[in-house]
Amino acid sequence: MKYYSTNRQTPPVSLAEAVKNGLAPDRGLYMPERIPRLPGEFFDRIADMDFISMSSVVARAFFGEDIPADDIDRIVRDTLSFDTPLVEVEDGIRSLELFHGPTMAFKDVGGRFMARMLSCFIGDGGTGKVTVLVATSGDTGSAVANGFLGVEGIDVVVLYPSGKVSEIQEKQFTTLGRNITAIEVMGTFDDCQRIVKTAFLDSDLNGKFTLTSANSINVARFLPQTFYYFNAFAQLKRLGIGDAPVFCVPSGNFGNLTAGLVAARMGLPVKRFVAANNINDVFLEYLRTGTYRPRPSVRTLANAMDVGDPSNFARILDMYGGSVESIRHDIVGCRYTDDDIRRTVRDVYERTGYLLDPHGACAYSGLKDSLCPGETGIFLETAHPAKFRETVSGIIGAPVPVPDNLRKFMSGEKKTVIIGNTFGEFKCYMQSGKCAG
Ligand SMILES: *Cc1c(COP(=O)(O)O)cnc(C)c1O
Repeated sequence: MKYYSTNRQTPPVSLAEAVKNGLAPDRGLYMPERIPRLPGEFFDRIADMDFISMSSVVARAFFGEDIPADDIDRIVRDTLSFDTPLVEVEDGIRSLELFHGPTMAFKDVGGRFMARMLSCFIGDGGTGKVTVLVATSGDTGSAVANGFLGVEGIDVVVLYPSGKVSEIQEKQFTTLGRNITAIEVMGTFDDCQRIVKTAFLDSDLNGKFTLTSANSINVARFLPQTFYYFNAFAQLKRLGIGDAPVFCVPSGNFGNLTAGLVAARMGLPVKRFVAANNINDVFLEYLRTGTYRPRPSVRTLANAMDVGDPSNFARILDMYGGSVESIRHDIVGCRYTDDDIRRTVRDVYERTGYLLDPHGACAYSGLKDSLCPGETGIFLETAHPAKFRETVSGIIGAPVPVPDNLRKFMSGEKKTVIIGNTFGEFKCYMQSGKCAG
């Protein structure tokens, strides 16, 4: 299967190239030339399949022409070392818990999958060392760094905005050492993302390094995020609920939501999607006005959603031929302030005992506010609340227990390279290793 650029200014490429390039040379995002439709019998028997088997079917539909089936199955099996359980929070509202992986955020799925797929391409291509560049607002860095830790032939460079990620998040990618370097940027997440995007277009850096991206723009991270939408549906069916659910997705760069759209095109029954934003609500504004106006991000309690120019917006536009009317047909939007988030975390905890993280709180609210009587709703709980324990324990007035998965990162020593918010400083560091801080 070929992958085309959403900007359509460069020819389509193979899967291996799309994964290694990350971003297309014309700055577009790669999309599979076809979104395969899964047969009806897959959905008839999905309730009898486990997460790994159903995900192998999905993965083979995309990657089957390019990677041997056994390798796909192995990558899927190694990636999904954890489940994504559907937990009832209250009548009609269920949480799809995506935080049971090693770094306790949904990005473990894409991060682990991409690491395994990339090493499969490096293995047989003999292309030498690859440097993975990743900009993170918190959870991507940890998922990617841990997914790639110790993987032969790959170096990872994580850029993150100084002081704008939680302590636990920071520890998860600044204490690893080995093939992982953390760069602390004196700026915003958008600065980090801009630096990474510029790096891919810089001929000097590309001459010296084989660069690839592990942001949600990479198809090897983006497409595996379809897996857990199917898993959610299978769990509903096991409960005897055959309705097409409403999915509410807490959105930043919109990779997670776009994967849901892809799953729906593959045939997954979905009533509609709700895109939950915090006050960084350029997408909601687009739905309302039909005009997309990126703007600088603002810091909120749900920091992984602090994105002012969501990169996967290009994919959504592409999937709907640029028609805002068609997009409105499938996706509704909503926005929540930090006060809303606090109120929701407290209220849901007191009423039901379920502890949301700030991102999940936006998603819960978005679902609750959108759901009509009789509809089945699922919100994506994208991180464990302990990843934001200072915030969450402040809200509920009680300590948040830290699971062992997270505790083991806390004792490590933070090591970073500090740079300003310009591409020039980043380039200088990469070229000489001496210009920092
Ligand atoms: C990354 C992230 C999001 C946003 O996901 P996108 O795919 O960028 O829209 C939401 N919640 C958490 C906890 C995240 O880490």
